[in-house]
Amino acid sequence: MRDRYNRREFLKQGTLATAATLISASVLDACAAQPLQLERRGAAKKVVIMGAGLAGMSAGYELMQAGHDVTILEARTRPGGRVFTIRDAFADGLIAEAGAGRIPMDHDQTLRYVKLFNLQLMPFYPSELPFVHYHDGRREEVQWKPFKEALNHYLGLNLGQSSANWFKIVGGNDLLPKAFAAKLSEKILYGSPVRKVEQDERTVRVTFTQAGAPQTISGDRLVCAIPYTTLRDVEISPPFSKGKQQMIRELHYDSASRVYFQTRKKYWLNKNLNGFAITDHPMEVWNPAHNQQGQRGLLGAYLRYEKSQAITAMRDGERLAWTLEYLEKVFPGLHEHAEGGVTKCWDEDEWARGAWAHANFFELLQITKPEGRVHFAGEHTSANASWMQGALESGNRVAKEINEAA
Ligand SMILES: Cc1cc2nc3c(=O)[nH]c(=O)nc-3n(C[C@H](O)[C@H](O)[C@H](O)COP(=O)(O)OP(=O)(O)OC[C@H]3O[C@@H](n4cnc5c(N)ncnc54)[C@H](O)[C@@H]3O)c2cc1C
Repeated sequence: MRDRYNRREFLKQGTLATAATLISASVLDACAAQPLQLERRGAAKKVVIMGAGLAGMSAGYELMQAGHDVTILEARTRPGGRVFTIRDAFADGLIAEAGAGRIPMDHDQTLRYVKLFNLQLMPFYPSELPFVHYHDGRREEVQWKPFKEALNHYLGLNLGQSSANWFKIVGGNDLLPKAFAAKLSEKILYGSPVRKVEQDERTVRVTFTQAGAPQTISGDRLVCAIPYTTLRDVEISPPFSKGKQQMIRELHYDSASRVYFQTRKKYWLNKNLNGFAITDHPMEVWNPAHNQQGQRGLLGAYLRYEKSQAITAMRDGERLAWTLEYLEKVFPGLHEHAEGGVTKCWDEDEWARGAWAHANFFELLQITKPEGRVHFAGEHTSANASWMQGALESGNRVAKEINEAA
């Protein structure tokens, strides 16, 4: 019988599930882009960068490599922005991603920096056991092909031919921004939200606060690598062009939220399921601990758009209760095995206020256009918006712009 607990089978699956298969160096070599290697022409520039997310830090790193003098102002007390690994909320060292989760193998810039910083990759999806497709109130056990077709149908996200083409960073995706931050070290000023930007023909002046006290810093160029949602609150003098002001005001950010439950054991393995699902809610269900050691498990709901807005409007306890009821239908047994949960709603994150922004071609022309000495980076300025790849590409683009500027 499928559903009957079979200890030998469970132990076998448990071993499969916790064996951390690593992606080989040759795969990484084949997929990673070549280094940027900017060559500085003329004198070093003093560059101020707003935001220590991947966009700001990759720009800072590349400019620093070319011998420019960079200072990064970051509102939070940590680097990485929307790459955020939840580390302390769970027992037994379990971790889960609140933001960026999976890396496709064609994201050559993300993989380039993974390689540069000697990080290791492991598969995002398990290669064993069926997925669940929960639709019209019914649970169906499916293999990769129907699973990814359902995902494509509900979310417009094409997962491609093989589950093996998706990776995550061993130890947590935040190791990537942390690696940048270690290289940039004292060049990053944390707890330093930018309040005002002023520029003239010769210089740009940035006012930020540290522990509430205003401070200013000047530079030859400024990289604005913060989301437009928070740029809306920064005073700009003289104002940017009309077109840019309109984009900053109106660019739409999608909503996304995650809800994770810690479970006493990876109970879905008893039913020969891998713990991943797609539902017609639509909601993805992730099992981030499939390649983490130990008996305990994690089951996570990934909500987007109006479903995410709906859960953001709830109080934390309600978010957990609502999600638990829903996940119980997808992987029955959560009620019995859940030990507690955590939520992350990006709309209410003070320094993100949304998940990501997909601009169209004409909007991108406006968004990426420098304004005097100010250059624009961030996932929202890229054709690969909503991915780490987009943030990194944009960081490389502004680094080149500034390196080449007179
Ligand atoms: C729920 C979710 C799921 C995702 N899934 C994936 C995925 O599976 N794979 C993938 O590759 N990508 C994914 N992404 C996208 C990826 O996380 C982002 O594209 C990328 O991290 C954005 O980097 P950034 O540098 O542009 O912005 P951010 O990471 O937001 O960095 C901007 C920084 O600016 C700071 N800041 C804001 N305002 C100010 C201010 N006034 N002064 C100073 N600092 C300020 C912020 O604190 C932040 O650190 C996901 C994102 C979310 C939210």
